[in-house]
Amino acid sequence: MELIAVSKLQPASAIREAHQAGQRHFGENYAQELRDKASELADLEGLCWHAIGPLQLNKVKYVVRAAAAFHALDRLEVARELSRRRQGPPLSCLIELNLGGESSKGGIAAAQLPAFIEAVRALPNLEVVGLMTLPPLGEDPRPYFRAIATEAKRWSLPQLSIGTTADFESAIEEGATAVRVGTALFGERVRSP
Ligand SMILES: *Cc1c(COP(=O)(O)O)cnc(C)c1O
Repeated sequence: MELIAVSKLQPASAIREAHQAGQRHFGENYAQELRDKASELADLEGLCWHAIGPLQLNKVKYVVRAAAAFHALDRLEVARELSRRRQGPPLSCLIELNLGGESSKGGIAAAQLPAFIEAVRALPNLEVVGLMTLPPLGEDPRPYFRAIATEAKRWSLPQLSIGTTADFESAIEEGATAVRVGTALFGERVRSP
């Protein structure tokens, strides 16, 4: 189980401190913030960046340079651009599922998954490794975690990126291979994007 420390809107100094304490995996939502922090912290050994937020086409270039993994893949257009621009080792991609049918959130419906996986698997420089979701706020997350775990098994995807500060314990019980925890580690985010 991997702990991804979600450092969005936290200062680079907080990442240095966590790195000092042994943390290596960090998650960022905003592509330019990821770019800036990756360059500012380039001296830190073994840092592994996870891009976890929605991504616009014109910001793909920042993610392909800095990140080892992208957790919010939900558009083929973005996948094509990531594939076209990625150099070096393949970018690990997790497909975001929108299991609550919430229009305010990213992610694809489970019914679209087979065709989407097939289309992304055909692209070079990307590797589809797993699934990610954010369950609807204020609902019991477990049914969503169970549903996504079932989908991951069905499509033989080894990684399951589920669980945040609010629900990482249940996510781990339901089979998370990565939890994305921000507030519980760093405290409240102060800066606005
Ligand atoms: C901000 C964010 C997190 C971390 O949330 P916390 O409540 O601070 O733990 C995890 N995943 C995604 C996609 C996020 O945007």
